[in-house]
Amino acid sequence: MSLAPRILKPVGQIQIGPETMKHAVPKVCGCGCNIFIPAIYVSTIPALVSPVGLELTAQQPVLICLKCQEPLNLKGDAVDSFPPQG
Ligand SMILES: [Zn+2]
Repeated sequence: MSLAPRILKPVGQIQIGPETMKHAVPKVCGCGCNIFIPAIYVSTIPALVSPVGLELTAQQPVLICLKCQEPLNLKGDAVDSFPPQG
């Protein structure tokens, strides 16, 4: 093992080594663009189902395609409230 300098990243981000990145498959939007802009999808949780009994505002990070501005579906069912594409 070499003493390569460690790059500190903000808490919450998973460190991906260069060996792992060799296997990375680029995410491509349905329009063919592979550049995305981070954005926040905001939704309201009704008081009836809220854990605190009050209406809550939930924020979910999403990636928006730079070209067609459609949200990228990262986890399949995580953003299924968006209209299906294609
Ligand atoms: Zn697109």
